[in-house]
Amino acid sequence: MAETVGGSCLCGGVQFEVELPFTRAVYCHCSRCRKHSGTFGSIVGHVPMSQVHVLRGEELIRVFEPPGGRVKAFCSVCGSSLFGGAWPNGEMASIRLGAFDDDPQVRPMRHAYVDSRAPWDELPDDGLPRYPDAPPPNA
Ligand SMILES: [Zn+2]
Ligand SMILES: [Zn+2]
Repeated sequence: MAETVGGSCLCGGVQFEVELPFTRAVYCHCSRCRKHSGTFGSIVGHVPMSQVHVLRGEELIRVFEPPGGRVKAFCSVCGSSLFGGAWPNGEMASIRLGAFDDDPQVRPMRHAYVDSRAPWDELPDDGLPRYPDAPPPNA
């Protein structure tokens, strides 16, 4: 059986689990993630959608599709940002690392949309590759 990691929203209404391993993780500094999260952007892990299982609260998840951007899926009770990408469709799922209750065992590997950063968003000297907007799919 595959190892799994559990996730949930702030109110606990939505619970899900993901089969490891993640394909990758990325810092997204885009303006849409920034507005949605209220902080610099988001840190998302990518896994094939087939590895994601919503255990409860699927009916609480609302999906907002910003013009020109990927969807933001969140809990309608507490507002926690949970999923992105093309949720609930698409081959790959994009999941906010902050939603996990345990270590998802993946670390961010790159910075995306660095040209969209807020003036107060200083990039750390972490040696990770930086992309002005969307990274190439397999970078
Ligand atoms: Zn919630
Ligand atoms: Zn973003």
